[in-house]
Amino acid sequence: MNTGTLIVITGPSGVGKGTLVRLLTKKYPELYLSISATTRKPRPGEIEGKSYYFLDRLEFERMIAHDELLEYAEYAGNYYGTPKQKVQEQLQQGKSILLEIEVIGAGLVKQIFPEALRIFILPPDLKTLEQRLRNRGSEDEEDIKKRLERAIDELILSKEFEYELVNDDLEQSLASIEAIIFNKG
Ligand code: 5GP
Repeated sequence: MNTGTLIVITGPSGVGKGTLVRLLTKKYPELYLSISATTRKPRPGEIEGKSYYFLDRLEFERMIAHDELLEYAEYAGNYYGTPKQKVQEQLQQGKSILLEIEVIGAGLVKQIFPEALRIFILPPDLKTLEQRLRNRGSEDEEDIKKRLERAIDELILSKEFEYELVNDDLEQSLASIEAIIFNKG
């Protein structure tokens, strides 16, 4: 059977994963974007079932206990995870799926889907990453600190992924991802 490709976009918070994924799904509506579950509180403008499935810890732990998640990880004090069922359905229908997830979860995906195509997005440098996190203004100081500390550990792992690319210029990064996904160039 011809199953679809599982494409994982990973890298530290603030690196531009979300923007790249938005551009990709806009340009290629045939790519199915998996909606994650999280215990993080919604930010202004985030929509239940579109941005995330917002759960409390008990609900999330129930999903873990029922083996309903493909992968999950704790990140900056909250759980984040990929609901399994939709991903499996879409892949079986031959559709390609995009996951936008942090680095530990991206490591776990490989154990379940060895053929997954994983792209690690790097910042040009740590200063730029900090600047981007501050500029988006969605986290408080404590959360920014947690994310930057975590970024240092995450960046060390970049070599373990199939592809790495430095997100210096959005257009160029998008073109590189397209080349990887569609085997172009
Ligand atoms: P944020 O709070 O900024 O929305 O997300 C924090 C981090 O969690 C980001 O790096 C994001 O990519 C990651 N993330 C989002 N959904 C998932 C998921 O389902 N699993 C894992 N492991 N990480 C996720």
